[in-house]
Amino acid sequence: MDKPLNIADILEYAATFNTDSQIVTRQVEGGIHRYSYGDALRRTKKLANALRSLDVHQGDRIATLAWNTYRHFELYYAISGMGAIIHTINPRLFAEQIIYIVNHAEDKYLFVDLTFVPLLEAIKDHIAVVKGIVVMTDAAHMPRSQVLPNLICYEDLIAPESEDFAWPEFDERTAAGLCYTSGTTGNPKGVMYSHRSTLLHAISACRSSALNLGPMSRVLPVVPMFHVCAWGIPYSAPIAGAGIVFPGAGMDGASLYELIDGEKATSLLGVPTVWLGLLNYIDSIKGNLDSVEDVVIGGSAAPRSMMEKFQDVYGVFPIHAWGMTEMSPMGSVCARTPYLAQADKETRARIQAKQGRAVFGVEMRIVDDQDQPLPHDGKTFGKLMVRGPWIASGYYRNDDRSAFRGGWFDTGDVSTIDPAGYMQIVDRSKDVIKSGGEWISSIELENHAVGHPAVAEACVVGIPHPRWDERPLLIIVRKAGAQVSAGELQRFLTDKVAKWWLPDDVVFVDALPHTATGKLLKTEVRSKFANHYLTQS
Ligand code: AMP
Repeated sequence: MDKPLNIADILEYAATFNTDSQIVTRQVEGGIHRYSYGDALRRTKKLANALRSLDVHQGDRIATLAWNTYRHFELYYAISGMGAIIHTINPRLFAEQIIYIVNHAEDKYLFVDLTFVPLLEAIKDHIAVVKGIVVMTDAAHMPRSQVLPNLICYEDLIAPESEDFAWPEFDERTAAGLCYTSGTTGNPKGVMYSHRSTLLHAISACRSSALNLGPMSRVLPVVPMFHVCAWGIPYSAPIAGAGIVFPGAGMDGASLYELIDGEKATSLLGVPTVWLGLLNYIDSIKGNLDSVEDVVIGGSAAPRSMMEKFQDVYGVFPIHAWGMTEMSPMGSVCARTPYLAQADKETRARIQAKQGRAVFGVEMRIVDDQDQPLPHDGKTFGKLMVRGPWIASGYYRNDDRSAFRGGWFDTGDVSTIDPAGYMQIVDRSKDVIKSGGEWISSIELENHAVGHPAVAEACVVGIPHPRWDERPLLIIVRKAGAQVSAGELQRFLTDKVAKWWLPDDVVFVDALPHTATGKLLKTEVRSKFANHYLTQS
């Protein structure tokens, strides 16, 4: 039967069949909120009716500036389910970027958490396209804003509405969600997801060979719902029957630990910096992660030391994953296999350092500068190209098609692929270091450097060198109170990489700059140290 895929069907299914699983939220206003998928569906239908009364129609963009909470979850389903498009905005972007995005997308309404009301007050004169702002809270917590006197209260908005709403039927290729990438140069670019792409991605992502979700899982997405839809968890958890634990605004080690321990979370998802904070906290209180089975690490390369800590100290299986906004985001996953289960420690570390094998639905290949395929021998570096039904075919309202070539999407990453299909990211193509015609992976050097006990964060950039074009420079943030010298770090790396990969120098800084999605802002680091080797020689 030619039944179109529709996001609203996910929640209808979960409300009927996932009656044992709960959605738990650490609320922005304080306290814990919990309800069932059935409750979520009833409130989502009230919200869909409320959107209709706000004159929201199919194709309208409705934006959110919000943490991971049950209200944000309701917006995911109500907006897309009624045929409009949920546009999740990253509040960590610069104000100018948020202004650009809201105007580019022509967002009709903005739903905002209490935390971000001041942010909107500051930019309100520049977002005239927005017809109204809804604050995601109840009457008791509504802010009184002089600058934004007409704020609408979420709970008041949905309270009078009916719990009956017939989801409209439309083509499964109808747009459902919109996310902007936060590149380091130029304006952010919009990626549009359809009902079809979102469902296919969610079904593939929850399988045991990917994120390993099922009815026994209580999944805690630390990855924000404003960053590629929290890696699709709001869609894949209800399909799998899993419960969800939303951390709200509490991303620090202590808040996360309290929630993981209190709610007995089984599956965690987030970027390495978040796990660093969590692991440091657990070490400091001699805590445990006894309820947790898997931790999905993605967004940046997972260092070996972090994976060993999870696996060998806390008994948690680290699932290294790779993807990007343009891919909904799931591309590859380093999941459990029989081979990995019986491998010795060194073999296991070597495999888990890789970003894994393509998930079902994604094809990957590496190519040279002429887009000619390169061998999958685990050694040859090439531009990583992908294709599949949840990968973007272009950017929203943008004519730049340079990354979309011959039916493939150029990810901008450089990688190797081994004969068993395991892909390993070498670098972003603009970050790879070109020294005397050979390539050096900044990511691999960083991963080794953070293995040193005195190192909190490491960044490696290639900077101009009079003899070799570029040479690596290692920039280190030391752990509080820890001491280590440049020479000591260089010696530490000697047996880990080829001699000519060794950074020529090491500098120490108090902090490193990051992008809005927590990645190292290497453009800034490179320009800061651009003359380092030129002035030395
Ligand atoms: P974003 O679109 O903001 O999610 O960023 C996607 C980019 O993050 C990818 O193209 C990679 O460069 C990087 N990335 C994501 N996951 C990983 C990973 N596991 N290891 C290394 N880099 C990663």
